[in-house]
Amino acid sequence: MSIIMKTNATDDDVKAVVKMLEGFGLRADISKGEYHTVIGEIGDEKKMDAELIKTLQGVKDVIPIQVPYRLMSRSYIDNDITVKVGNTKIGGKEPPVYIAGPCSIESYEQLSRIGIKVKEAGANMLRGGAFKPRTSVHSFQGLGTEGLKHLRRVGEELDMPTVTEVRSELDVEIVAEYADMLQIGARNMYNQDLIEAVAKQNKPVLFKRGFSAQIDEYLSFGERLIAHGNRNVVLCERGITPLGGAFKQQTRYTLDIAAVPVINSETPFPVITDPSHASGRKDLVVPMARASIAAGANGLIIEVHDRPQEALSDANQALHPDVLKELIKSCNDIYETLNRKIG
Ligand code: PEP
Ligand code: MN
Repeated sequence: MSIIMKTNATDDDVKAVVKMLEGFGLRADISKGEYHTVIGEIGDEKKMDAELIKTLQGVKDVIPIQVPYRLMSRSYIDNDITVKVGNTKIGGKEPPVYIAGPCSIESYEQLSRIGIKVKEAGANMLRGGAFKPRTSVHSFQGLGTEGLKHLRRVGEELDMPTVTEVRSELDVEIVAEYADMLQIGARNMYNQDLIEAVAKQNKPVLFKRGFSAQIDEYLSFGERLIAHGNRNVVLCERGITPLGGAFKQQTRYTLDIAAVPVINSETPFPVITDPSHASGRKDLVVPMARASIAAGANGLIIEVHDRPQEALSDANQALHPDVLKELIKSCNDIYETLNRKIG
């Protein structure tokens, strides 16, 4: 349900609604809009007596929300949400944001070299994995805390906000100490405990779609971030499981381009795509990036390496910084053509 308060409702009116919800065994999420405060209940809505709530002073209406991701839905919050990471804004009417950097942080020197180049190419934020999710236990597993230190140092030197994945609940605090934005990876989209621990850090979150998740399932898990008090959420379409079959698999995953406008129409939260992991092939990253911006993505996260032959992970999808520069230029051209303004 969405409890809409009257324009002249006071703080005490809002408190009375929250108290009544708590009396029903529910929690409340308060959303202060330009004209109305809207209150959403967290918990089993069958416990709520909407007619009783309507009798409270200051309540304008109580409206049912038809989707399971109630707090994330446009029926609850209509205005686009802009998420701020350092001095970078993602979402709403902001031009596309480009997050770029290596798959894995391999050393300070590697990250610094690549960081300088992605910044020159026009990237707004720096990415780099320290706690890596890897299929094989024999592959490079990431530098862990040492990598986080390099990330913070390079981010500060280049004045670029940083994002890195947090893979385990045990690492949430340390990652939050060093990074500006916490990434929950595709493999952890279903990890309730991790999602809740990350939400509580009150840092911006990059929440990736699981590769086998339906969109409403994805948003329902994202809802947990909001229900635990964190609205600084950026969604990310990163490709879904491709069709199997007897023929050679051409792409690593399938970028679900339609997810971008679907998410945009369902929720006010920003959505970006990850054409690197979605395609797994450097020759497809640029066309998939362009398609994403044309479909309405608020930004992109792109893997870049200046010496891909030496990359310790995901070498096949790493773009050279010069290609990133072209990518950003052409995506900005597309954005301008469709929106008629930048800057
Ligand atoms: C990543 O961004 O480093 C990553 C591993 O992505 P995903 O979780 O989408 O596979
Ligand atoms: Mn990678």
